[in-house]
Formats: sequence, structure tokens, C-alpha cells
Amino acid sequence: MIVAGNWKMNKTPSEAAAFVKELAPKVAGAKATVVVGAPFVALPGVVEAAKGTNIKVAAQNMHYEAKGAYTGEVAADMLKDIGVDYVIIGHSERRQYFGETDVTVNKKVHSAIAAGLSPIVCCGESLEEREQGVTAEIVRRQVKIALLGIDKAALLDSGLVVAYEPIWAIGTGKTATNEQANEVCHIIRALLAELYDGDAAAKVAIQYGGSVTAANAKDLFAMPDIDGGLVGGASLKANDFEIIANA
Ligand code: PEP
Repeated sequence: MIVAGNWKMNKTPSEAAAFVKELAPKVAGAKATVVVGAPFVALPGVVEAAKGTNIKVAAQNMHYEAKGAYTGEVAADMLKDIGVDYVIIGHSERRQYFGETDVTVNKKVHSAIAAGLSPIVCCGESLEEREQGVTAEIVRRQVKIALLGIDKAALLDSGLVVAYEPIWAIGTGKTATNEQANEVCHIIRALLAELYDGDAAAKVAIQYGGSVTAANAKDLFAMPDIDGGLVGGASLKANDFEIIANA
């Protein structure tokens, strides 16, 4: 089980570090791996504040090149160097606003793994795609391309996580039903079995994300193919995230 918070463009570095200090005792007994995804500038302080706790730290994005003339970008090695553990790749907001594609997601997955980071690879359909009945095709394509060229050893050793996040459920307060969420997570697991084998499919954590709250987390996480959550809004409040991380 893995519960990751995605703070998006929220919290200053001081607020972020203070939040981790507040959160740490609340999630100290969590059975799940607990991750917080902070903005780049907050990462050093968050890593420092998380030292000696069970909280792992994620970046929300990275560039796929190792270095070079990419003004404003951050490379995987830089994140690794400051003690970051995970990196969210291909979030629908990156796809929608910043031109992320399945191909750049795949490049980033390769670079993240090479640098020793655990990728949290996001996928998910839009409302239109769901209504057109192509959810399975969309999600299978996204995950298949994201994992191109990644062998089973790299997949498992890196601790790669897949996050299924239907776009229509992100930040909308409209959660997928437990069954809808589990159905697509099951499709992803079946794809992993097809691409690798049953062992890989069983070991890779598949999260659900999209308006996860303190009220609905327990039931979602109890579904057989859901191994935790990627949480936006509710991860900004320590008391809510505490309940979700302990769910
Ligand atoms: C997200 O951005 O990954 C997300 C799931 O957001 P929210 O929980 O706010 O819907």
C-alpha cells in the first residue's frame, strides 16, 4: 500500500516543512508507505523535515534529459542528490497544461529509474473518453507507452507505482465509485501481466487518485486491485491526510 500526497503548486517552503513536522507523528504508525509530493523549491526543506520519520518525499515532475540547455527544468539526478525518493510523472495537469505526452512520460520513466528514483506514473481518461467507451484503450495505451523499454527487473527494483487518475475525478469532488476505480486498476494489472508476468502484476502498486477524501479512502483502498491513493486536495490538510494514510 502506498499513499502519496500531491500538493501541486501549494505551500511555501516554510509551510511545507512545518506541515511535514505536523504530519510525521500522525502517520508514524501507518502500514502504508507515506509520500508527500512538494513543489521543487520546497523539496530540500521537506527532505530535511522528513528525516528520521517514515515519510518519503516526491517531486511532482522532472525533465528527461540529464543536464543541458533546458532553462527552468530540473533533472532526475538533482532530485536524487537532495534526497528525493519518488517522482510523479505524467500527471494529467502536466499533460493538459505543459505538453506532456506518452512519449515524454516514457523518457522520464527511463531517466527517473536510471537516477534511482521511484516513478509514480499517472494515467487516466477524460470524461469524454469515458462516455465514448474507450477508457480501457486509453489507459492501456498510456501505461504501455510509459513502460516501453522497461524490463521486469527495472520495473520491480525501482519501486515504480502506477496511479490511475480519471481526469473527471481530479479536483472535482466527483470520485469514481469503488467499482469504477477498481475496474480500471484491474485492467492495468492485467496489462502488467501481459507485458511482464503475473509476479510483476502482483508486485507493482496501483493507486487510485481523484477526489480521495478522509471519508472515502478506506472503502477505495479495500478494493482488491487498489493499492493506495494519489491524493491532491485532501493531502493539504494534515488531519485529513492522517486519516487517508492510516486507511
Ligand atoms: C491529483 O491531483 O493527483 C488528485 C487526485 O487531486 P484531487 O485529490 O484533489 O482530486
